Amino acid sequence: MVILEEPIGLKKILRNYIGGEWVESQGEMVDVVNPATCKIIATVPASTRDELNMAVDAANRAFPEWRRTPPLARARCLFRLKALMEENFEELSRIQTMEHGKTIDESRGETRRGIENVEVATGSPSFMMGYNLEDVASGIDEYVVRQPVGTFGIIGPFNFPLMVPLWFAPYAVATGNCIIMKPSSEDPMSQVRLAEMVEDAGFPPGVWNIVNGGKAVVSGMLDHPDIEGICFVGSTAVGKDVIYRRCGETGKRVIAQTGAKNFMMVMPDADVDSTIAACMTSFYGNAGQRCLAGANLIIVKENLGQREYELFYRKIIDTFVNAASKIRVGYGLDESVQMGPLRDGSKKRKVMEFIEKGIEEGAKLRLDGRNVKLVGEWPHTCFLNPTVFEQVTPNMTIGKEEIFGPVACIMRAQSFDEAAEMIQRNPYGNSASIFTSNGKWAREFQYKVPCGNIGINIGIAAPMAFFPFGGMKDSFFGTLHGQGKEAIRFFTESKVVIQRWF
Ligand code: NAD
Repeated sequence: MVILEEPIGLKKILRNYIGGEWVESQGEMVDVVNPATCKIIATVPASTRDELNMAVDAANRAFPEWRRTPPLARARCLFRLKALMEENFEELSRIQTMEHGKTIDESRGETRRGIENVEVATGSPSFMMGYNLEDVASGIDEYVVRQPVGTFGIIGPFNFPLMVPLWFAPYAVATGNCIIMKPSSEDPMSQVRLAEMVEDAGFPPGVWNIVNGGKAVVSGMLDHPDIEGICFVGSTAVGKDVIYRRCGETGKRVIAQTGAKNFMMVMPDADVDSTIAACMTSFYGNAGQRCLAGANLIIVKENLGQREYELFYRKIIDTFVNAASKIRVGYGLDESVQMGPLRDGSKKRKVMEFIEKGIEEGAKLRLDGRNVKLVGEWPHTCFLNPTVFEQVTPNMTIGKEEIFGPVACIMRAQSFDEAAEMIQRNPYGNSASIFTSNGKWAREFQYKVPCGNIGINIGIAAPMAFFPFGGMKDSFFGTLHGQGKEAIRFFTESKVVIQRWF
C-alpha cells in the first residue's frame, strides 16, 4: 500500500476572495475533515451576510468594465486559468481526494472535466454571437445581440466540489458577467485553491469572488437585489423549496440541478460482462455519491420463458455480487483503491438507515457493506463497502428514494413496458440507461424515458462539457441547463434591435 503525498499542510485557515483581496471572515470557523483519516485538514468560515454583500458590491463595481472587455480578452483569462489548472492538475486532484474522500483517479477525472468546461467556455466569442436579417420590412433591418446580465451566485454541492461549479463559472465570466462562488462548506478547499489560480490568471478584481459558508450566504444571495441569477446544484429539498421558489419570488433567473434516483435496465439480449463492468462504476463510483449514480437495476424478462429468465436473472445477480465484493475500499490516495469513504459519518449513518429499512420492508440483502473491510488501517467512521439488495420493488423506500451511497437495488420486470413504467413513475428524472443489442428497445427507451441523460449500452455517463448537463422532473428546476451553449444562453440576454436605414 503506497499513499500518495498529501499536497497541502494538514491545517489551513480558508479565507474569502472578495474584490481581488484575500480576506479573513468574521464568521465562525468550521472544521473540514478528511473522511478517510478523520483528521482535520482545514477550517472554513461560515461567512456573514455582510461579507456576502461586500462581494456583491465588488462584483457590481467590476461588471461595467468587464462587460466592455473584448470577448477574446476575457477568453485569454480563461486560457491562463486552464494552463494553471494543468500545471497544478495533480495538486488539485489530491486536494479533492483529501477533502471529499473519492479515489485519486476519480478526482483526476473530475479535474479533467472541470478543465474541459474552462476550455469550452473559451469559445464564447463565437457562441455569444447574435443574428440578423436585412429588409424585414422596407428599409428596415433587424438583429439580435446577446449581452451579459450582471452578477450571479453559484452554489455548489459536496459531491463534486471542483467540477460542478465549473459547469457555470467559466461560461458566466466568459460572457462578461461577474460571479460569487459559494462552494459546499463540507469540502471547499479545491474551490479556494482554484480561486488562487483565478487571481494568478489575471482576472480583474471583483469578477470572480469566493465567499465560503452555508445558509446565511445562500439566503443573502437569494435576497440580494443586485444578484441577477443563481446556479445551484444540490438536494431536491433545497433546490426546489428554497432556491427555485425564492428565485421565482424575487425574479431571478435560475438553474437548480437537484437529486436523482437512476435506473439501469437490462434486457435479455444484453452482453452480460460489459453490462456488469458498466454497473460497477455506475453504482459504486464516488461511493455512490453521484447524481448520475446507478441506483436501481431492473432485469427484464420480456420474451424469455420462465426457466430461461431465472437463469438469466441469477447470472446477472451472481456476477454483480461477485464483482461488487471484489471492489477495493480504502483511502483514495492509495492508487490501488477503487472506492473511498462516504463524505462524513452522518452520511454513512443515513445510508445505514436505508439498509435497515430495506431489510425491514422485505428486500433480500445479498451483500452487506456494513461489514467494513478496508485496504489499510483507517477509522471505519465514514466507510461502507458495496452493498447489494435483490427482490426490491419500486414502492419500497430503497427503491424510490435517493440513497446517495454504495447500495444497489435489483428489481424484476416482466416486460420492457413494465420497466419503462417504473422509471416513468419515479419522481426523479436525472438519468437512466438500457443494456440491449436490439436497436428497437434502445430507440423506445430514449423516446419514452423522462430523464435528462440517457445511456445506451453505457453506464450513466456525464455529458461532455460541450453538451448540456441537466435532468427532468424532480431532478431539475429552471429552463436552461449547465455546460456548453445552454450555459452561454443562460448567462446572456437577447436584445432585439430594429433599425430603419433612411
Ligand atoms: P445540499 O442541498 O445539502 O447542499 C447544496 C448546497 O446548498 C451547499 O452549498 C449547501 O451549503 C447549501 N445548502 C444546504 N442547505 C441549505 C439550506 N437549507 N438553505 C440554503 N442553502 C443550503 O446538497 P449536497 O448534499 O451538498 O449535495 C448532494 C445532492 O446534490 C444530491 O441530492 C445529489 O443528487 C445532488 N446533485 C445533483 C446534481 C445534478 O446535476 N442534478 C449534481 C451533483 C449533485
